Amino acid sequence: MTRLGPEASLRICRACDEEITDPADGVIVMHETGNSGPGWDVWAHREHADDVELIDPDLLRIMTRIWVAQAAAR
Ligand SMILES: [Zn+2]
Repeated sequence: MTRLGPEASLRICRACDEEITDPADGVIVMHETGNSGPGWDVWAHREHADDVELIDPDLLRIMTRIWVAQAAAR
């Protein structure tokens, strides 16, 4: 099993705390900056993204459409 990197090895849904095992089923809902270092991405299942009220819902809708298009292009 090939890992993309430490930041891609584990994606936990912010809404339900379950691991996102299928990359196509996950969306980045926000990026948190660490005290030192690059920070990390906060993930959620696409179905649960609306439950994570961290960013503007309209922006999330736009980004979700972009991510869906990217996933479909692979
Ligand atoms: Zn979830």
